[in-house]
Amino acid sequence: MKRYHVTTFGCQMNVHDSERIKGLLESLGLGEAGSADDADFLVFNTCTIREKADDRLVAHLMDARAAKRRDPDKVIVVGGCWSESMKDELFDQFPFVDLAFGPGNIHRLGDYIQAGGEIPRGHFSTFDTFSGELPLKRDRDFQAWMQISTGCNCNCAYCIVPSVRGREHSRHPGGLIREAERLAGDGVRELTLLGQNVNSYGRDLRPAVDTSFAALLRGLDAVHGIDRIRFTSPHPKDMRADVIEAMAECEAVCEQLHLPVQSGSTRILKAMRRTYSRERYLALVERIREAIPDVALTTDIIVGFPGETDADFADTLSLVDEVGYDHAFTFVYSARRGTEAARMPDQVPDEVRGDRIERLVERIQHHATARNAALVGTVQEVLVEGPSRTDPSVLRGRTRGGKALNFTGTALAGALVDVTVTGSTSQTLSGRQAAPVAAA
Ligand code: SF4
Repeated sequence: MKRYHVTTFGCQMNVHDSERIKGLLESLGLGEAGSADDADFLVFNTCTIREKADDRLVAHLMDARAAKRRDPDKVIVVGGCWSESMKDELFDQFPFVDLAFGPGNIHRLGDYIQAGGEIPRGHFSTFDTFSGELPLKRDRDFQAWMQISTGCNCNCAYCIVPSVRGREHSRHPGGLIREAERLAGDGVRELTLLGQNVNSYGRDLRPAVDTSFAALLRGLDAVHGIDRIRFTSPHPKDMRADVIEAMAECEAVCEQLHLPVQSGSTRILKAMRRTYSRERYLALVERIREAIPDVALTTDIIVGFPGETDADFADTLSLVDEVGYDHAFTFVYSARRGTEAARMPDQVPDEVRGDRIERLVERIQHHATARNAALVGTVQEVLVEGPSRTDPSVLRGRTRGGKALNFTGTALAGALVDVTVTGSTSQTLSGRQAAPVAAA
């Protein structure tokens, strides 16, 4: 049996795509190797969101080249966003690569194997088929990723995604409901819906298919066995009233929302082409909290965007204080070749960016600590994932708010149990399994 090894870089969409790559390869009779050294097929599922990601990948490719020199039968395969971004020069720069494809062409790997390698080497277009329709090999027993759409119609000035994943394409809602039913049948209790811009789901299907993100949430909420639904990433501009209502009314949709803001300054949001102002974003947060009072809010923030002044950065800090996020992914702006922002004047000096990210992280930690401390003494429903990675004598799981919680108890992986929170840090909660409530 031929063996494969997949190395994954980047976001959850790539983690999902790698599960599909593994499923496809196993459906064609290959097995997973324990390491790259033992593999006949070395597959790299790549990311290109930042220049640094490229450098890391190239180091891996150099190792693959050395491995192929030692064993010329090894097959080197490159997929994902970096592969798409390099479509014009990849084989010139990396001639030892046997097959390369973009995120919308993963199925070509199957064609390559079935044709014994006798197909063209490069398959690039931003979208051909949904990876979500390929065979699946899940890494987690009770949780699953579900790709609902791919691509993005926005053009944020710093982002390379639209040029490598293309325009938005939504999967048909009927197919998604059937997939959720199959997953529930396999024991999955929690679904995470994936898309570059999930809440614009369905726009490209209308009017032929009367659907929307809110309608999809309601449809998946009705699937028996699916107890939790999460989604990432939404865009603030598409968080309409029907989505907020569906989040509030659908029992399975968790009280957790990742709402990337990127900056607290309306001037910088404009330069970023984010299409909303600080004021509109804060008003949206208010509406969401009115409808879902205990929602856990997380976000993405970039510091040091070209032209960002001390006053702009102060706006970002004050917005963080006003929202009081449960957590935030913070990024130092780095110019990405091929984006509008990389050509902008007034690039912010490294030391200024370094100082700002430190102050931002401190502020985020302050609020995250307070948000988690406020949960001490409460009872949280937890989906048990298994023993803690650091202490096998305790169990780990996640609350509906998406918070990691380590606790003492006897529950089995995959169970939904109540846990009394007894402790907290800025990152995690701790607790003990609550005694089951005696039936009346
Ligand atoms: S919405 Fe997200 S994926 Fe789309 S261009 Fe903006 S940052 Fe990139």
